[in-house]
Amino acid sequence: MNSRLTVSTGCPSCGAPLDFTEGSHAIQCGHCRSRLLVTGRKQLLSYFISPKLDVHRAVAKALLALKEEGVECRVIEPRLYFIPYYRLTGHDFLWEKSAPKPKIEPIDLSAFSPDPPQADLTMTLQVASDFLGDLWEIGKKMYRGEDEPLSEPDESKPTGPIERKQPVVDLRRKGAAPASEEEEMTFRDRYVEKNFIACDLKGWGSYSLGVRAAVLRLELFRKEVLEAQGTIVGVTLSSEEALRQGMRKAEPENVLYRQVLGRVLSLIYFPFWVIRVQRQGEERLVFLDAVSERAVHSDAPISLLEFLGRPASGEAATVGFRPLTCPNCGWDLPFDPEDILFFCTSCARGWQIEGSALSPIDYQVVSPPAGAAVSRYLPFWVLQAEGEGNPPARFFLPAFRYRRLKLLGDLAKRLSKAQPVYTVSTAPFVPSQGGCYDSEDAASLARFTWAGMRGTQEMKPPEEKPFFVRSATLIWFPFQFEGNALRDPFTGMSLPQNLFV
Ligand SMILES: [Zn+2]
Ligand SMILES: [Zn+2]
Repeated sequence: MNSRLTVSTGCPSCGAPLDFTEGSHAIQCGHCRSRLLVTGRKQLLSYFISPKLDVHRAVAKALLALKEEGVECRVIEPRLYFIPYYRLTGHDFLWEKSAPKPKIEPIDLSAFSPDPPQADLTMTLQVASDFLGDLWEIGKKMYRGEDEPLSEPDESKPTGPIERKQPVVDLRRKGAAPASEEEEMTFRDRYVEKNFIACDLKGWGSYSLGVRAAVLRLELFRKEVLEAQGTIVGVTLSSEEALRQGMRKAEPENVLYRQVLGRVLSLIYFPFWVIRVQRQGEERLVFLDAVSERAVHSDAPISLLEFLGRPASGEAATVGFRPLTCPNCGWDLPFDPEDILFFCTSCARGWQIEGSALSPIDYQVVSPPAGAAVSRYLPFWVLQAEGEGNPPARFFLPAFRYRRLKLLGDLAKRLSKAQPVYTVSTAPFVPSQGGCYDSEDAASLARFTWAGMRGTQEMKPPEEKPFFVRSATLIWFPFQFEGNALRDPFTGMSLPQNLFV
């Protein structure tokens, strides 16, 4: 399960409570209907979590925990601390060595019917029951920093490539030439999520946020609000080191190549009651999670107070809001919460989030091949790249959101291999959707695509294969309806429509 957190704040227009999912870039106030752009993308943003436990109950809980241990003690001083944690999320794209498996028969697209209307509800109920049943499992996994698959589950659907092609024949079995390297590689994607302590608390262990992360509500960091309640513990782990630590992973042997898209690192200040007690003639500390009210440590050394007292330095950045309207004509921009590219349906201009601003992006529109009826246009980044080993002149990377990332990867590879020749249309055009990948994501995806095209022998860590992008252009490509899928007229590849988000 992919556990996104909820951010709780107030609407800057009307002041009503405003909750949104972590990672949203565009939201709408449920009260005044204002459309808002969430600023601060690609910055280290800080949040905090409010304590649920007051001082009296904290002291009572600590005494109870010690009593259960059969220890007599006396409370000296209770104090609330906000301990910083890093949270790292992202989308991992992996090429793995394929395990030998039976070849998949071609799939008849007529089997793909649109999701029934209750599908979303089923999913919600499923998630809710998973959540209640497996909270502890989730906690344990997050504690260990395990990752979740990113593509949303749709086990009822076939998992093979959705394209019309001849059955793949395994020539090896017949003693003929070996299959190409490409066939020995498998695409895999997963959602990366890690929460780990951002300060040095020697003797306490690396207590993780994991156990409760899925039920946490984040509030925007405000120094004065935290200081009025307790002490803010200083961060000692730099964000660079945090990224390194968060990305480090015992890769299974079969991972050949990896790129991380949409990487987000944030800081979360979590409340703990630290109760100084005298137990058996010695001063010790009891740590209580001020949200779950659980005693997480009942016999910690008093020396930790020194680490907890380390002052917090520097100012913390938080998300901001600005109206989500077209900077050119003032029209409300249509959006999906995860969009970072917006297109005005009034003046047809394109915009991309950059810091706290919307900066213009130009785009081109491809004319459909002669005689082809166009059903829908989808946005792509077309990258001109230079690198070792003669990469294709142009890479074609989807900029739209789609539930099955493998199909986006396949489409990128097939278009980049095909190097389609097309003409740019000059006819009036109104973009019909936004995009969720920027040119930086496209460059990562291009490197990933190129690694896949070169095959298993050529795969090296990304830093060993520098890859320069000379230019990136946003281009809308025409697609045609074919049954329940959209078909790319240049490669013939089809994308089932029910997997569009
Ligand atoms: Zn409002
Ligand atoms: Zn406009």
